[in-house]
Amino acid sequence: MTVHQPDAPVGATPSLARGRHMLSIPGPSVMPDRVLAAMARAMPNIYEGPLVKVSEALLAKLPGFVGTTGHAFIAAANGHGAWEMALTNTLSPGDKVLVCESGRFAIGWGEQARMLGCEVEVMPARPRRAVDPAALEARLRADTGHAIKAILVVQVDTASSVWNDIAALRRAIDTAGHPALFMVDCIACLGCIEYRMDDWGVDVTVAGSQKGLMAPPGLGFCWASPRAMAVHVEARCRTAYWDWTARSQEGRHYLRYCGTPPVSHLYALTEAMAMLEEEGLTNVWARHGVLAGAARAAVAAWAAPGGLEFAVLEPAERSDVVTTVLTGGIDAERLRTIAEDRAGLTLGIGLGAFECRAFRIGHMGHLNPPMLLGTLGTVEATLVSWGAPLGGSGVAAAAAHIAGHLGAETVPAGSLQGFNP
Ligand SMILES: *Cc1c(COP(=O)(O)O)cnc(C)c1O
Repeated sequence: MTVHQPDAPVGATPSLARGRHMLSIPGPSVMPDRVLAAMARAMPNIYEGPLVKVSEALLAKLPGFVGTTGHAFIAAANGHGAWEMALTNTLSPGDKVLVCESGRFAIGWGEQARMLGCEVEVMPARPRRAVDPAALEARLRADTGHAIKAILVVQVDTASSVWNDIAALRRAIDTAGHPALFMVDCIACLGCIEYRMDDWGVDVTVAGSQKGLMAPPGLGFCWASPRAMAVHVEARCRTAYWDWTARSQEGRHYLRYCGTPPVSHLYALTEAMAMLEEEGLTNVWARHGVLAGAARAAVAAWAAPGGLEFAVLEPAERSDVVTTVLTGGIDAERLRTIAEDRAGLTLGIGLGAFECRAFRIGHMGHLNPPMLLGTLGTVEATLVSWGAPLGGSGVAAAAAHIAGHLGAETVPAGSLQGFNP
């Protein structure tokens, strides 16, 4: 009897892209199985009962999560929606807004403010650097009439991968003695790196669900300080959908979301927040620090003339959630396509000024050494496969970096001393 064993057509080099696909883009990030499973539930009563408890528990927990005693709002929206919620609730047409450029994202937020009728000024970035606190202080000192009503900045710019020092920018505002509202976009990095809204004097924080928070895209968040809530009362850009007053009516659960709540997303977020609580926020931050250190060790080892280099020039300004790698003479799009089609790895595209000249490695959220080393090893294999200039093995450097953080150094080689069954 002949057995027919299915086979591929002859000729083509078989792709290795089987097994679990690795998504290493800076958002949406990898969703934990626990979070995915939490969403697979029937729709509940949206006016009363268990869902209301889930939703109120989230709203009660969210302020502490960012270190504020202020108000938290959840909207059915992506990050762009959260931006608009922040702007419409605090600004009036004609208000002047200062945008601190450090890549792409604060610019986009400012463009929204312009469409709302605000006067937008962009404080240009130093090339490939973070926002300069001294420059902010000087600009605010020059605004003697306090025309500037709000300052927009991102904590991490996901295009350049720059990290901005929010505490230092607050000190600059205080030194200048300027009363503008301080609004910070933490969409890329909330739940991954240190953030202290009240300690750092932030008036409005915005975030989204799909990056550090490990939930699907579709929830936008705002946190508002008491000062922001007071300014809100007089704001004239307010609209029905985003309105904070309408959304803060006690006992009116349906109005919290200006309509039907994003039920499945709330279940997902509840599970993701439980995971972050189990780990402990400071451990989450530390884990991101170690894994980002490994990604940077890899890029530093790969770097070579005509080849790869960091997009961010100053090491202290490189973020712990995403690393943008400039590709020099190497075709970034070819690299990404080969990694994706042949090896099952999706890397982030170069954005804005870095379009086609860079790739980005997201290292945020549900991430551990095997996932990150898999990504870095696949990038390295892709580069080696066409003889790109490489300074050395990034994988070896990343593994060495992680080795220093495995806590194994207390166990002497070849002994079980210190082993606790
Ligand atoms: C992802 C991101 C946004 C946009 O979020 P969307 O959910 O895509 O609308 C804005 N700002 C930063 C810093 C981001 O990383």
